[in-house]
This record gives sequence, structure tokens and C-alpha cells, in this order.
Amino acid sequence: MRLGTSKTCLVTGGAGFLGSHLCERLLEQGHEVICLDNLFTGSRRNIEHLMDHPRFEFQRHDVTFPLYIEVDEIYNFACPASPIHYQHDPVQTTKTSVHGAINMLGLAKRVRAKILQASTSEVYGDPQIHPQPEEYWGHVNPIGYRSCYDEGKRCAETLFFDYHRQHNLRIKVMRIFNTYGPRMHPNDGRVVSNFIVQALTGKPITLYGEGTQTRSFGYVDDLIDGALRLMNSPDDITGPINIGNPVETTVRALAEKVIDMTGSSSPIVYKPLPHDDPMQRCPDITRAKTLLGWQPNTQLEQGLAKTIAYFEHLLKVEKIEIA
Ligand code: NAD
Ligand code: UDP
Ligand code: UDP
Repeated sequence: MRLGTSKTCLVTGGAGFLGSHLCERLLEQGHEVICLDNLFTGSRRNIEHLMDHPRFEFQRHDVTFPLYIEVDEIYNFACPASPIHYQHDPVQTTKTSVHGAINMLGLAKRVRAKILQASTSEVYGDPQIHPQPEEYWGHVNPIGYRSCYDEGKRCAETLFFDYHRQHNLRIKVMRIFNTYGPRMHPNDGRVVSNFIVQALTGKPITLYGEGTQTRSFGYVDDLIDGALRLMNSPDDITGPINIGNPVETTVRALAEKVIDMTGSSSPIVYKPLPHDDPMQRCPDITRAKTLLGWQPNTQLEQGLAKTIAYFEHLLKVEKIEIA
């Protein structure tokens, strides 16, 4: 811990897509950053430009094991986030969400740190209320293929609110909707990375189902801005708070936009819809607007252009192998 306005911030999952952007922004604000990651889906590549920074430290550690350090703030982002990654070892996914939350909450309790949880719109499951406000309890299959992630994240929210009520912990719960941008894992099967890589390599664009399902895509910079605003908000603002872009898009429209923006000649091919794939997803962001003064600033086209440029660089300059 440090004196003055600079804080020591722990970012779990800090070598991942969102975590690496968060580490970067916290360093820019003058804080000490401890980036903790077991490198399951994250990579050193995402943080290699930070490694020599005097206020940055990387620790390889699994959040399912206890951790004894001194920090002021904890951003708990550790958890595989894409369906193929979180379904690869579903028991470990639940352990990461639940045991990881217990350990990070135990740490926060011991050092009296403020703690923010990267929760997810998946807590709403396949929603029957649209758009989804935070008051909605969701429609989640407890025994399906997505349950390890959805129920793990729901249980983590329960733990956050119980530590808050029982131990007066300062908590912040952020429900993140689909977020995209540079440093997404090129092989994680998520729709934005899949479509861009397929378009850039001339492979068929894989549309699951009819492509009529919707998502609301938020750009990473806006998401990080929301996370920082939430962490710095007054203590009585615990969340849950939706952070996402309320502009809803069908998956088919996304495919067409990516083809158009990349000038690709990739054909669209149809594949079966994955198990329990939610049909629609759109955040009600009234709370974020009112309580945090937050709203997204990046249009889909602007964010896609930056993400396409990132993957072009990975493919052409760094010559990354993509499955
Ligand atoms: P990501 O896979 O790029 O990042 C997750 C990071 O956590 C990786 O670096 C991974 O190695 C690390 N990790 C996984 N298990 C761990 C463990 N047991 N111990 C330590 N580290 C571990 O995914 P992301 O998109 O950056 O997601 C970050 C967080 O945001 C996750 O908690 C995810 O559930 C949440 N979230 C993301 C989205 C999105 O669209 N990107 C949406 C909702 C919620
Ligand atoms: N913990 C940790 N770091 C700490 C304090 C606790 O990793 O600095 C972990 C430890 O594994 C513990 C868990 O957090 O079991 C929950 O801590 P808490 O104090 O809530 O409960 P305990 O299990 O210690 O009674
Ligand atoms: N999707 C698709 N083709 C792909 C990857 C995903 O049509 O190559 C669809 C998927 O069925 C889902 C949506 O895109 O309806 C978003 O999928 P993603 O895995 O990115 O996120 P999540 O389902 O967790 O929101």
C-alpha cells in the first residue's frame, strides 16, 4: 500500500483481454498495479509492453488458491469468458468463479480493500424481459453447458453481497455485456473475433442458427471507463450495474458488417445453434447513466475498425497461427 492518492490495485485475470486494458489504464492514472493471472486464456503478449514499467508487477497465480498480499483495491476479472474456453474444464470454471471470489473477498476483508467483481449479462440467462434491467433475476438453466459460467458468476454475486452485509465490505458488482476490441483471444470462438479472423483469412463466416439472435456489443475502452467510474463511486453504490452498449444487433447483421468493412469475399455458412444460446441480449443502462454518469461513446463501426486493424496486425506482421 502507498501513501497519497496513488493506490495499489490488484487486477486478477490481468493478462486477459479486459484485464490487460485495465492494468494499462490504472498505470496511466499513477497507481501501482499487481497483475495476477494463471495464463489459462490470457498471455504474456497482452502485458509485455507493461513488464518494464516501474509500477507494474506480474504474478502467476491461480485465484482458486489463497493469496496473501497488501492492496487497496481489487478488480476481480479472473475467469475464462468465451463459451469454448469456459466449457473446456467446466468444474475449474465454477471453482474459479466461486473459490476465486471467496479468496479475493477474504483478502479484501483482511486488508479492508474495496473490491469490484466482473460479473456478466449471463446472470440473466436466456432473458424473458427485454432490455434487461438489474432488477431482473434472470432465466438461467442450472444444469446446462453454460451453467458452470452462469451459475458460477451468480454465486460470486451472492458471495459479494453476503460479504458486504455480513462483514461490511465495500463491494462493486458490474454486469458486463458482450465486449470486444484489440487483444481478444484470436481462438476463443467469440463471435466478433471469429467473424473478423474468418473474413481476413478468406474462410467461411460461421453463422450459428439463423443468425437472428441478438447481442449488444460494447467497445473495450468504454467498458474500462465504466469499471473505473464504478470503483471510484461512493461506497453506497454497490451495483449490480449493467455496463454495455444498448444498441442491439443481430448476429447476421454483424456478419454482414464485418464482411463489408473488411472487403472480404468469405461466404456465410450455417452451423447449429449452441446449447442454451440466448436469443436476445440488451442492457438497460439507466442505472449506469444515473449513478455513474456513464454511457458508451464508441459506435460499432468505430470499434470494429480498431479491432479489425488489430487482427490484421496479428495475422500479417506477427504471423500468429489461428485455428
Ligand atoms: P479473458 O479470457 O481474456 O480473461 C480472463 C483472464 O483470467 C485470462 O487472462 C485467464 O488466464 C485468467 N484466469 C482464468 N482462470 C484463472 C484462475 N483460476 N486464476 C487466475 N487467472 C485466471 O476474458 P475477458 O473477456 O478479458 O474477461 C475478463 C472478465 O470479464 C471475466 O471474468 C469475464 O467473465 C468477464 N466478462 C467478460 C465479457 C466479455 O465480453 N469480454 C462479458 C461479460 C463478463
Ligand atoms: N484469504 C486469502 N487471503 C487473505 C485472507 C483470506 O486468500 O488475505 C482466503 C482464505 O483462503 C480464506 C478465504 O479467503 O479461506 C475466506 O476468508 P475469510 O476470512 O472470509 O474466511 P475464513 O475461511 O478465513 O474463515
Ligand atoms: N456466434 C456465431 N458464430 C460464431 C460464434 C458465435 O453465430 O462463429 C453466435 C453465438 O451463437 C451467439 C453470438 O454469436 O449467439 C455470441 O456468441 P459469443 O460466443 O461471442 O458470446 P455469448 O454467446 O457468450 O454472448
